[in-house]
Amino acid sequence: MTYERSRKQLLGKPEKLARFEKFNKTKERKTGKVVNRCRRCGATRGVIRKYGLNYCRRCFREEGEKLGFKKYN
Ligand SMILES: [Zn+2]
Repeated sequence: MTYERSRKQLLGKPEKLARFEKFNKTKERKTGKVVNRCRRCGATRGVIRKYGLNYCRRCFREEGEKLGFKKYN
């Protein structure tokens, strides 16, 4: 189960939530691959950062034309 889903279950239990967050919070990262996520699907693999796109290659394939990119070959 993911951190977000587990946390949601404890929203009505403040004491347990505080303890859960103290010990199970996901680490905030300044560097590493997880910093550069796809803005559409959240993938960390194949992310295109050029021109500030921050789309993964799969989302870029679907969204690129809407953004004004044209395919010439
Ligand atoms: Zn994506």
